[in-house]
Amino acid sequence: MRCLPSDKLRALLINPWIHDFSALNLWSAPLGLLKVAEFLSQFDCKISYIDCLDTIKPKSYGTGKYRRQPIQKPLVLRQIPRKFCRYGITIEEFQFRLKSIMPVDIILVTSIMTYWYTGVAETIDHIKKIYGDVPVILGGIYATLCPDHANMYSGADLIYEGSIETRSERSKSNGLEAVIRNFGLRLTNITDKKAYYKLGLINWQFTPLLTASGCIFSCTYCASRLLNKDFIRKTPDEVFNEIEEFYKLGIRDFAFYDDALLTDSEDHLKPILKKVIQKGLPVRFHAPNGIHVRFIDNELAMLMKASGFKTLRLSLETVSPARQKLTGSKVKTDEFVNAVTLLKKSGFTKNEFGVYLMYGLPGQSLDEVKEGVKFLKSLHVNINLTEFSPIPNTKMWNELLAKGIISKDIDLLLTNNSVYYYLYSGYDLKELEKLKLEVKAYNSS
Ligand code: SF4
Repeated sequence: MRCLPSDKLRALLINPWIHDFSALNLWSAPLGLLKVAEFLSQFDCKISYIDCLDTIKPKSYGTGKYRRQPIQKPLVLRQIPRKFCRYGITIEEFQFRLKSIMPVDIILVTSIMTYWYTGVAETIDHIKKIYGDVPVILGGIYATLCPDHANMYSGADLIYEGSIETRSERSKSNGLEAVIRNFGLRLTNITDKKAYYKLGLINWQFTPLLTASGCIFSCTYCASRLLNKDFIRKTPDEVFNEIEEFYKLGIRDFAFYDDALLTDSEDHLKPILKKVIQKGLPVRFHAPNGIHVRFIDNELAMLMKASGFKTLRLSLETVSPARQKLTGSKVKTDEFVNAVTLLKKSGFTKNEFGVYLMYGLPGQSLDEVKEGVKFLKSLHVNINLTEFSPIPNTKMWNELLAKGIISKDIDLLLTNNSVYYYLYSGYDLKELEKLKLEVKAYNSS
């Protein structure tokens, strides 16, 4: 057993750099990693935290731009005519922060996009140069979706698949506690868990809210089901208490991370929002993940407006009925029109809600995207064009493999949303650029 001399485990948690062509912080926070901190808080454990993305130039409602430093473009991306950058703190700053925390017994790194794996690998490389043989565990979305790839490329000593909550609850022998003990480290249980936001790790500008994990749908391009097999919700009281706790800490902006926030709203979101209204909390809510328009009714639209929703993203993705069905049937155009009508009636303005419209889906023509733009303009709603990017092991990924469009050993860098459409959509890229400029001008009109 290690952890001498006090037997207190010294754990360092790290949110790694992003390598990409562009990156904005639209209410992004490493919630999974913070849940790891919450889990460790029940043990005799000193928890330190480094956020490599801790460089936000603030914009509105807690969002912001990351600082960036151009880096050498990997060979495989050489055809992409854009700057490739490391987003976050500088190397010197990261090294300084690492050294100032020494010594530690274990390091836990999280990960998000699978195509950001080089950012993870660079982060771990710097950790290893300073911390030598201190074990590094890599968890998060990339580690869960691509454990073999992460094993091969990340430099971590152990890949931790799954979320801290589900894995530790399902099997104690397989949970994080057992994993840490297997490195010969001691964990002494001393107290109950402390909520992550009470651990003083982050200077909150906004807070993430996850009222439920998982999704009731199963869209062919989405990894939600791969990451969370079950749909598990907190009770409305639990969610409201969390909101109130954050409010007392001075937080006013709340970003919902749910994949299916509006599901069964009679017993979930409606009671939460009613309580917020009844208590008169002057908060601002943001729903950057596309919400399911089919669940919006008159009462819900009114409650969302009255409780302080400021940012809403609606999922439409395509106006083609065939593609809506083919990709998972989460939305139909008439349901969408109904939702827009109700939201407008309840007072939401054009700038308070935008609509996700995808381009570059396999088999999707640019004309189909143009048709979607024309349709949304006719409804006077803002348009958020989003690039399709294939996520490993989703149904659509497997279809692309089966059709020979991608190969199983494709470099994940090529699945970046800024890259995939450029190389694989077959679009006239000048036409696409024209469409993007048209949408930009329309949104700001
Ligand atoms: S509804 Fe959204 S979160 Fe759910 S599976 Fe479809 S894309 Fe994913």
